Amino acid sequence: MTTNNSGCSYCLGIESTADDFGAAVVSFDGKVLSNANDAYTPKKGGIHPREAARHHAEVAEKVLAEAFETAAVKPRDISLVAFAQGPGLGPCLRTGATAARALASYLDVPLVGVNHCVGHIEVGKLATGAKDPVTLYVSGGNTIISAFEAHRYRIFGETLDIAIGNCLDVFARAVGLQQKKGAPFGAIVEQLALKGEKLVSLPYTVKGMDLSFSGLLTAAVSAFQSNNGSIEDVCYSLQEVAFSMLTEVTERALAHTEKPEVLLTGGVAANKKLQSMLTVIAEEHDARFCVVPLKLAADNGAMIAWAGILAYKSGITTPLDKSYVDVKWRLEEVYAPWVEAQLC
Ligand code: AMP
Ligand code: MG
Repeated sequence: MTTNNSGCSYCLGIESTADDFGAAVVSFDGKVLSNANDAYTPKKGGIHPREAARHHAEVAEKVLAEAFETAAVKPRDISLVAFAQGPGLGPCLRTGATAARALASYLDVPLVGVNHCVGHIEVGKLATGAKDPVTLYVSGGNTIISAFEAHRYRIFGETLDIAIGNCLDVFARAVGLQQKKGAPFGAIVEQLALKGEKLVSLPYTVKGMDLSFSGLLTAAVSAFQSNNGSIEDVCYSLQEVAFSMLTEVTERALAHTEKPEVLLTGGVAANKKLQSMLTVIAEEHDARFCVVPLKLAADNGAMIAWAGILAYKSGITTPLDKSYVDVKWRLEEVYAPWVEAQLC
């Protein structure tokens, strides 16, 4: 393993599962030295995978240079390259994987393919000090309630259709909300919801431990279009119903597992209303509520670097001929021996 003059080892992490291209340098002892990012913003509608991939290829050099410069680390001081291997959009994943393979080969350092969902969980644990949480991971592409059990992060509940972040984004676009200064649509819905007063009737769909948001999305758009409530009231109601569903399933996972912490991670973790609802259930179950800091909430390279470091330290690397991307790589398929070591 290569180390720089100070004896420290560094990992370069590359994230490119969807709209974000991120690159970060993280030290092996868990310091995030840089976390550069450039997001693809579609001119109209949702993410177009090939257009997003083209964006990533165009910005990769700039984002990587920024990651090294901010960290004040030279490429030759890198000991490990980690990349998001899945799940995600194929063309986007392949762009990041290609950059990661090229860099690892050129620098002659090991490569580690990281599961994107594991990245969100591990960076949340790193930033909050959570050791063994029930995790609610909510983002534009995923909605998963999980906890660690017997070598793997087990999925206790998940969305059956669209992710909660996608539900908020599609709703916002459908009712004509405008993004100001690049604020995410979910944050715009959150601000409007603060002014809502009337609870509009919307479908609440929890099936066993799984959730469905597509009917809720359709009903919220149609409530607004048929003047059933003001935009503030519909945003308020959409959040109330969607976040109650998430809170219910998280609470049941907590009651079942009796874990000592609840961790909220992913881009939607920025939402204060969701944070407050989870705080209540955590208190009721004597668990500590932990939320990932805003700068590490949405997709980012630091979470990939940190999860890569944990895997590498427990002996896991990804040979080049096994570094193909897996668009449907599920969380519970990941063998995670480092977690048992953390729990000792
Ligand atoms: P990620 O997929 O992890 O990069 O997160 C992006 C998602 O987070 C998008 O769906 C955003 O709309 C959503 N998001 C960001 N900020 C907020 C917020 N304050 N409330 C709800 N959703 C948010
Ligand atoms: Mg994103």
